[in-house]
Order: sequence, then C-alpha cells, then structure tokens
Amino acid sequence: MDQHLINTVNKLQDALATFGPASNTIDLPQITVVGSQSSGKSSVLENIVGRDFLPRGTGIVTRRPLILQLINRRPTKDTSDSEQLIPTEQVNENNKDEWGEFLHIPNKKFYDFNEIRNEIVKETEAKTGKNAGISSVPINLRIYSPHVLTLTLVDLPGLTKVPVGDQPKDIEKQIKEMVLSFITKPNAIILSVTAANTDLANSDGLMLAREVDPEGTRTIGVLTKIDLMDQGTDVIEILANRVIPLRYGYVPVINRGQKDINSNKSIKSALEYERHFFETHEAYRSKAQFCGTPYLAKRLNGILLNHIKLTLPDIKARIEKNLKKYQKELAELGPAELGSPSNVVLSTITEFCNEYRSILEGKGNDVSSLELSGGARISFVFHEIFSNGIKALDPFDQIKDVDIRTILYNSSGSSPSLFVGTAAFEVLVKKQIKRFEEPSLKCVTLVYDELVRILTQILSKPQFNRYPSLKESIGHVFISFLRNLLLPTNKLVTDLVSMEEAYINTAHPDLIKGSTAMSIVSEKMQMSRPVQLDPKTGKPLPQQHSTPPPESGNGGFFSNFFASKNKKRLAAMEAPPAVLKASGQMTERETMETEVIKLLIQSYFSIVQRTITDLVPKSVMLKLILFSKTEIQKELLEKLYQSDSLNDLVKENEFTIQRRKECQTMVETLRHASEIVASV
Ligand code: GDP
Ligand code: MG
Repeated sequence: MDQHLINTVNKLQDALATFGPASNTIDLPQITVVGSQSSGKSSVLENIVGRDFLPRGTGIVTRRPLILQLINRRPTKDTSDSEQLIPTEQVNENNKDEWGEFLHIPNKKFYDFNEIRNEIVKETEAKTGKNAGISSVPINLRIYSPHVLTLTLVDLPGLTKVPVGDQPKDIEKQIKEMVLSFITKPNAIILSVTAANTDLANSDGLMLAREVDPEGTRTIGVLTKIDLMDQGTDVIEILANRVIPLRYGYVPVINRGQKDINSNKSIKSALEYERHFFETHEAYRSKAQFCGTPYLAKRLNGILLNHIKLTLPDIKARIEKNLKKYQKELAELGPAELGSPSNVVLSTITEFCNEYRSILEGKGNDVSSLELSGGARISFVFHEIFSNGIKALDPFDQIKDVDIRTILYNSSGSSPSLFVGTAAFEVLVKKQIKRFEEPSLKCVTLVYDELVRILTQILSKPQFNRYPSLKESIGHVFISFLRNLLLPTNKLVTDLVSMEEAYINTAHPDLIKGSTAMSIVSEKMQMSRPVQLDPKTGKPLPQQHSTPPPESGNGGFFSNFFASKNKKRLAAMEAPPAVLKASGQMTERETMETEVIKLLIQSYFSIVQRTITDLVPKSVMLKLILFSKTEIQKELLEKLYQSDSLNDLVKENEFTIQRRKECQTMVETLRHASEIVASV
C-alpha cells in the first residue's frame, strides 16, 4: 500500500513534468540538513542518494546551498528497479540511465558523478572565491535516476562561530539566516546532524531545528562519527531519547572518514562496514536494525509518506482545478477541426450578435460587479449626463432685460400695446429653444461611442481571436453600419428641437397663465416697495397700484435717445440711428411686463426641457440602439457571408493553433494525473 502511494506520486510527478521545472504542483518535502561545520552533513546526504558526488572534507567545504532535486525516471528498458526507494546501494559504473544537470549549465548531461562534484566545487568558487567565503545563492542540481525517489534535498554550509579567510565578521549570523530561510518552510524535513564525538547539548543543529520546529514534528536527529567515539562511550542514552528528546528520535550512522575519502572508498563498502560495525558493537548489537544509513533512509520514507498522505487531497483538488481551467480554455478556443468556412462565418456572426444583444439588455454572462457595462452605461448617458446637460440650460443666459424690452416694443408694432404680447413671448422662447439642439446631438454621439465600446468589448473575447481577419471585418462592418445610423438619428433629434421651435403652444396645460404671472409679479413688486402707514390708524395704507414714476421731461422708452438732443436738433427731426435699442429708466409698467414675460419664458422653457429630456433618449433608442440591435445581423450577413473571400476570413490565428495544442496536452496530462490520484 505504502509502496503504491510513493509509486503513485512518482508517476504523478512524471505525468506532470510537462508543467516544466518550475512547477510545484506536488508539494513534496525538502529534506534539509542542519548542523555544525564538518559534522558530516554532506556525507549523510550522499549516502542517502547512494552516489559519490558531493564535496566533503574538513574545514568549510559546503559554502553555497545546494538544492538537489532527485527525479525518479524509469530506465529505458523497463525493469522493476524503480520500485526501490531511497537506495542504499551504489550502482557503480556510469550508467546511461543516470545523470545530473545543473541549472546554470542548461542542456548538459553529466553522466560522470566525479565531474558533477568538480562542477560543484568550480561553481562554488565562482561565487565565493577560493578563500572560505560563503554565498546564499544556491546551486541547483537535478539528478535523474531510476534509483531515486522524486524529492528535494538541500545541503547547506555548516554553522560556524569564528570567521576565517575571507569570511565576513558576522559569518555566524549570515549562515544562521541562510539556514533558517530553508528550514523554516513547513515542508522542510530537518535532518539535524550532530557528530557523536561532540556534546549533544552543544549541538547547533538541534538548537536551530528547535527554533523552527519546537514540536519536533519534522525533525529527525542524526548522530555521525559513531566510529570516532572514545572507547567505552556510546550514544545509547541519546537513542533512548533520554537526553534531548525528539519526537522522531535519533539514528546513529557511520560515514566515510577522511582517510576513506582519500582512498576513494566506495559507498557500497562503506555501508558494509557500517552494518558490520553496528552488528558487532557490544552497545548497539541488540538494536542494530535501528542503526545505520539504511534505517535512516527508511525513517525518511516514512516521513515522506506521511507528508504525501497529508497533501494528496490538496494535490487532487489542484489537479481538478487545473483540469477545469484548461478544459474551459480549450472549449473557448473551439474545436481543431474547422467546419466549412461559411459555417464558421455564420456561427461567428450569430455569436457576435447574440453577445451584442445580451450586453445591451444587461444579460451578458459576464455581468460585472466592478463597473457598469453595456446597457447600464447607456442608461447612465441618458439619465445622468444628458438629463443634467439639459437641466443646466439657463432660459435667460442669452436674453437680457433690455432685449426683452426691445422685443416688447418691436412686437407691438407701431402702436404701443397695453398688454403683454404673445408675439414677444414667442420670439424670445424660440430663440432659447434652439439651444436644446447641441446637448441633444451630443447625447447621440455619446451613445454611439458606447456602442463602439461594446463592439470592442465583444471582439476582445478570446473566441473572436481565432480568426483575426473575420474579427477585423466584423469590426469594420459594424462601425460603418453604425455611422450610417447616425444620420437618421441626428435628423430625428434635430427635428424634435425644430418641432418645439416651429410651434409654441401657448395653450399648453402646464404653462403658467398670463393672469397668474401678472399677479405673481405685481405681488413681488409691491413687496419690494416700502409700506406706508396711515398716520391716523397706524395701519398700512392701501398700496397705490400704478403711481407713475416722476416723468422727467421726455421720460419713457425713448428718453435716452432724445435726452442729449438740443432743441435745434429736435426740431430738425433727424432719422433714427442705425441701431436703436430700448434704454433709459424703465417705467413701472415696463418692468412689470418684462417680469411677466420672463416668468412665462421660464415656465415654457421647463416644459420643453421635460419634453426633450424625455424624447431624445427615446429617439436614440429607436433609431440607433434598437435598429442596430435588430439589423446588425442582417447587415453582417449581407456584407460578410456572401463575400467570395470566405476562405480568407477564416484563416486561423497562429497563436490559437499553438495554444490549442498546449491546452490539449495539458488536459490529457491532467486527466491522466487525475486517474492516477483516483487510484489511491
Ligand atoms: P559537513 O561539513 O557537515 O558537510 O561534513 P562533511 O560531510 O564534509 O564531513 C566532514 C569530515 O568529517 C569529512 O572529512 C568526513 O570524512 C568526516 N566524517 C563525516 N562523517 C563521518 C563519520 O561518520 N565517521 C568518520 N570517521 N568521519 C566522518
Ligand atoms: Mg558539507
């Protein structure tokens, strides 16, 4: 069962290899060593991998982090070898099924593991110099082999206290931080290495491990150099977990000593020596099966299994999620088999038109909560922008009192009238109504822009990218069709304004009555006059209604014109000047008439305001929006479907072809992965 699980994960990893080296779809643990310098960290890792390839020795040898990815790869001839987990036996000769690759030398396969070691030394010196300097920039090495379990090991510089060589003063702090950055990750399994010939209580490795993993749920203790312990001393008390307890306990191992390294002792014979040592040692003999590198490997497997079991549901979920994502994209890209060109054009046009309609109706399947779109934006144009633009029109911004007075006189013709003339009112109102035209036309343009915006929005969807030339043509036809609609729309809108201008409906039920206007004005005028009190009763005297202001000579309308004239010129009776304007102090009646006219203008103006605010959007709706909605499909079919260039229209985008292939591979891979996971 457990074997099955690990094989499953290896298969999964294989299946998902298409995701590229950066993929960490499966969050396998990283096994990280931590311990003092020369405690034997590199030696332990190397024994676990089962190949000689790490620089080892006295003094500071590991000076950059080495991230070692082991990748289980079935041999070319399929043997059941791959079932072996972390091997403890070396495969000696160079083998075409096993090689290493460095990230910094892409595409070079190292079949000779001695060469790998030389490259690590060379690359370490490249970043740190020869003189004991360190660097936190990792070296990345991948080892492909049928004899390894897919997992990541990290070799780190040992903890030191006193700077030597080129090392900086704060070497201790720097190394500590580097180590912490690796072992803090929750998926880091910590191999806390302590040489058995040193005091466990002084172990830097244990101290740091405890800092990041106080519960000890991912720390395993490793005691090296058992062979170097003084005669008569042993680690039995530690192994019994009575000294510094660790949840996963301690495993004693014996690596090759410096002499063995110098004499090129093989891992195989080193492991034999180790087994022999524990089996014959009087202190360890009885528990020899819990000692040595093979047992350490077994313990690690157990921890790995645990981790895999814990993460499998998550892996499953991620696979399903990715599968859905790629299936969706694949569906959007459309089937690889092209239908006939006419079918493609037909269905693309239909799809475009459906999208257009549903966006206008606010039924698009991507109705956004972040911004207004489509129909809602048009509604905003109507009810906010346009309606406020119309409201902002001022009925008097182009009419001054003096103009009113002039028109009053003009419209009464040659005989001064005694009442407010409708003619004057109409002249003035018409002049103002013209002003509704500009905002109304602007409203049409704004809606046009919105429709073009919708076009862009639709065409930017992935399904339209497939046929670039068809997409472009749809865009062109749509825009020129819309442009043509501008003419009748603008015509209707200007006609609306012209209609208002053509006939001033003084009988409009909402228009203020002349008499009402009159009484409002006269009331206002009285209020502004100081109230006189009856000296006898103390009550306000009845207001004298139309006391004429003191006439000063030739007062009244033409007073100014004649004011400066001397008698002689008056007598000469010159012709009126080219431009003759009403001027001079207004009589009370004139003031009154002007005010009444203004009141009427205001009342009528707001009636027109309401009508225009109501009718312009309706016109735009009819002539531009609804028309385009119902007719665009016909237009597109006429212009595109019957064209003899159907074949050119449906030339597929290179990117689409490429991407479809990628997605297909992804979907297949993920389906496969999903089946593998399901089998657990
Ligand atoms: P690191 O600095 O922790 O990576 O330690 P290395 O693996 O480079 O080993 C440091 C030195 O200790 C080397 O000379 C090894 O040969 C030696 N060494 C490591 N483990 C053992 C062991 O179990 N027994 C003996 N005799 N020597 C060992
Ligand atoms: Mg080392």
